[in-house]
Amino acid sequence: MSTGIAVLGCTGSIGTSTLRVVGRHPDRFSVVAITAFGSADKLEEIRKNTGARFIGLVNGDGQWSGANSSTCDRESGALCLVEAATHPDVDIVVNAVVGAAGLEATIAALKAGKRVALANKETLVMAGDLVQQAAREGGGEIVPVDSEHSAVLQCIGGRPLGDLRRLILTASGGPFRGWDAERLAGATVAEALNHPTWNMGPKITIDSATLANKALEVIEAHYLFGLGYDEIEVVVHRQSIIHAFTEFVDGSVLAQVGYPSMELPILYALTHPERVSDVGVKRFDPVACGDLTFESLRRDDFPAFALGVAAGRSGGTAPAAFNAANEVAVEAFLQSRITFGQIAVVIESVLQAHSGDPADDLKTVLDVDRWARETAEVACY
Ligand code: NAD
Ligand code: MG
Repeated sequence: MSTGIAVLGCTGSIGTSTLRVVGRHPDRFSVVAITAFGSADKLEEIRKNTGARFIGLVNGDGQWSGANSSTCDRESGALCLVEAATHPDVDIVVNAVVGAAGLEATIAALKAGKRVALANKETLVMAGDLVQQAAREGGGEIVPVDSEHSAVLQCIGGRPLGDLRRLILTASGGPFRGWDAERLAGATVAEALNHPTWNMGPKITIDSATLANKALEVIEAHYLFGLGYDEIEVVVHRQSIIHAFTEFVDGSVLAQVGYPSMELPILYALTHPERVSDVGVKRFDPVACGDLTFESLRRDDFPAFALGVAAGRSGGTAPAAFNAANEVAVEAFLQSRITFGQIAVVIESVLQAHSGDPADDLKTVLDVDRWARETAEVACY
């Protein structure tokens, strides 16, 4: 029997890659539900190509022009994410939504006992304990799509998490790896969107330029693999060939290696712990890779990284405040309302004003998310 897949955010970078991967395995997977924020026509086109039986337009108003197929449910509004994620024919929810908007769907899917193939790292950062609690309660499981975390999961290979001693996540360093502080402060939107190794949506591309993405990933790793922040390190590796180093208690270090493409981590998140053959994944050639280099992160020049990790260490609602402030600041930068250098300034001002509550329930987290967004908006003007 084929595995039913929901793709939340099916029009984005990860969503499109997921549909490509799933489309290469028609005997194994079928696309049941798709959602997007954008155009109804685009969603209809994807429905026709995939045969999805549920489509959800997050920004839709309930008016579906030209929709005459009675074999497909069409829903509008933010709730369609939860409906797609809990659809009875769905086994695996690929959460490829960008930002905090994916949180409720992740929790609902886990409570309904589904596997969540999680690209939407903001979800774990905002509410890591609540997400883990939902998985325990409902019997669902989180399998990371993020390449570094997929690498760690593959290196763990079914061993108990207690065997882990340290993780070293790699960072490409983004487009500004060699830039000095002065040049960085005035970097343009076009320069920040020009990522050297990964082709991704705009928000994560800016996060990669500020290194806020790496802070989100450190927090994500903390919740996924249960290590403390002193045991999660980052090294700059500009070729993006080694995705993470995983050190075990005996001192042995395993690394996962591959070209920078999200299709392999997406496939693995769908098949874990199994491996399946996929003609679409380019075979590895070490000689063609050339030299692999590793260098320290320039923390002082990329302050968003340290701010994010500090928020992770503080725990409670601080990671949610960090995430929300970052989302607002990135949007303001993309709209040329603030400079590149101001992104971290906005985040810092929000974290300084944040009072630090325990993240005991979803309402508390969502209240902090809303407060941090409002505070960051004010700081952007
Ligand atoms: P993207 O901007 O290309 O796509 C985002 C998708 O989410 C689109 O389908 C869009 O319609 C939908 N969306 C946007 N706003 C929404 C909202 N408010 N409610 C519901 N849906 C909404 O982004 P992406 O690069 O595919 O990234 C998606 C997620 O995956 C992010 O959390 C990102 O950090 C993570 N991720 C991406 C990559 C990558 O290579 N692109 C790698 C690792 C992790
Ligand atoms: Mg990553």
